Amino acid sequence: MSYPFDLLYRIKRPAFYIGNEYNTIRKEKEGKIKVALAFPDTYDIGMSSLGFSIIYNVINAREDALAERVFAPWVDMEEYLRKKQLPLLTLESGSLVSAFDILGFSMSYELNYSNVINILDLSGIPIFSFEREKLPLVVAGGGCTTHPSPLLPFIDCFVVGDGEEVINEMIDIFKEWRVNSNRKEELLKTLSDIDGIYVPLFHKTVKRRIVKDLNKTPYPTRPLVPNTEVIHDRAIVEIMRGCTRGCRFCEAGFIYRPVRERSLEKVISLSDDILSSTGYNEIGFLSLSVSDYSQIEGLTRYIEEGLIPLYISVSTPSLRVDTSSIEFFHAIGEIKRGLTFAPEAGTQRLRDIINKNVTEEDIFNVIKITSKEGWRSVKLYFMIGLPTEGEEDIIEIPRLINEIRKIDKKIEINVSISIFVPKPHTPFQWTGQISPTEAKEKISILSKNLNRKGISISWHDPYVSVLEGILTRGGKELSNVILNAWKNGARFDAWTDQYKWEIWEKALKEEGIDWMIYLKEKNYQDPLPWDFVDVRVKKEFLWKEYQIGLSGVRREDCRIKGCYNCGVCPY
Ligand code: SF4
Repeated sequence: MSYPFDLLYRIKRPAFYIGNEYNTIRKEKEGKIKVALAFPDTYDIGMSSLGFSIIYNVINAREDALAERVFAPWVDMEEYLRKKQLPLLTLESGSLVSAFDILGFSMSYELNYSNVINILDLSGIPIFSFEREKLPLVVAGGGCTTHPSPLLPFIDCFVVGDGEEVINEMIDIFKEWRVNSNRKEELLKTLSDIDGIYVPLFHKTVKRRIVKDLNKTPYPTRPLVPNTEVIHDRAIVEIMRGCTRGCRFCEAGFIYRPVRERSLEKVISLSDDILSSTGYNEIGFLSLSVSDYSQIEGLTRYIEEGLIPLYISVSTPSLRVDTSSIEFFHAIGEIKRGLTFAPEAGTQRLRDIINKNVTEEDIFNVIKITSKEGWRSVKLYFMIGLPTEGEEDIIEIPRLINEIRKIDKKIEINVSISIFVPKPHTPFQWTGQISPTEAKEKISILSKNLNRKGISISWHDPYVSVLEGILTRGGKELSNVILNAWKNGARFDAWTDQYKWEIWEKALKEEGIDWMIYLKEKNYQDPLPWDFVDVRVKKEFLWKEYQIGLSGVRREDCRIKGCYNCGVCPY
């Protein structure tokens, strides 16, 4: 089956729906466990997701299973499908999503929840788990599964943590179950006993699954090469997973602990394999903090001697720039492209509270060094609404920006302001979130004090951050809100041109929920909607870290200063 030919001229990005990319894997379906992998955002974003690519390749590496992809159709495609009464099809074989054994969602952002419902609906699959007696088994994995409560009624089981090993165990169990039974409950019962799987039906707690040795885990060496522009259109090699710097606001810094590195030899062999199997002339080295990679010198040498001579350019998503990583950034040409800093807060007092171990002096030093080399732009990331923040902390943000500008007046400065959302499983999970009105006031103070010459500034819509806070911090009661909002047209809520707060506000009201409660501060005794998920970092440690933070005490990286007993090791 395939979409009608007129699709090509009726919608804006037909390449999002037709597949046929280089390295696509197509398999005979007969006798195999069929998995449809769904990414609840557009193709260009989903195709840039490493986790999605890893799971696609792990499943397809098996003789007895196959994976195909499906992405959230953009609004024009949805309109087209609904008008023609066509179902959503997978890219590889144009098959009905509903005909697969397993449908696996990759969940990395809460603002994609309405798209999950939309994909189920467009695939002709009942939305609630209790309505689905038959297959596909609906599974969700990714970062959001560490606080999955709003999705509980829609998903049959959640994979919490690193999915590479879990997915193979899940397929093995599924295979055995299919031979011996057709009762879905039995399958779910067996799955609920696997480490890292949470089945809402059985209300057990779940422990995050952690891959111990990245050198031994499978990695896609023949990734798909999209035919159209995507967000990260390059080879990607993950050099490290986890970060122990301990920024108290950062969810990734706690839910991906401990730090696990790939050896330099492995990184080099993966890079060589991926570059030759794809033809890419750009490679990205991925980690939460690339300059913390213990083999950074060797990696810098590989770039200088093995990649640059072949005209392969290098990029990194890392936001951390300090003097120790200057050589690396120099090697990859990042200094010429422009530097990125995330001071996050305007005052040292507040940076100490959030444990952002970067000082003004660090920033000024790097800017002075690199200014001599002719760099012309800098990106600065700040957050507003951080715990204990006062007006003076806000006013210091423009002062810091103006000081940077004084170092070299020719530089172009781009400032991005986001609104702090207290994330589950972090020391700040108990703090409150500022309201949209407070956010607007803070942004106005900041803008008034900023000399705009040579500086561009952008900020997140306070109402987008509010929905993010609600869906991140809320419980099962939000499932009806998600359904209501979807019925009333909520789609692609992460996209400013599609997002409509009025729909969500109305849905919350109709479900009798006062959304301001999600912004409130919590006590240690208060039950949290994600308490049943054990990410292996102890709650007592997080609370202690929160209290220490409030008193302004910084913590160095445990890899340097020794263990603070957060609970995650020896994993
Ligand atoms: S248990 Fe200790 S060494 Fe391990 S991540 Fe936590 S603080 Fe660091």
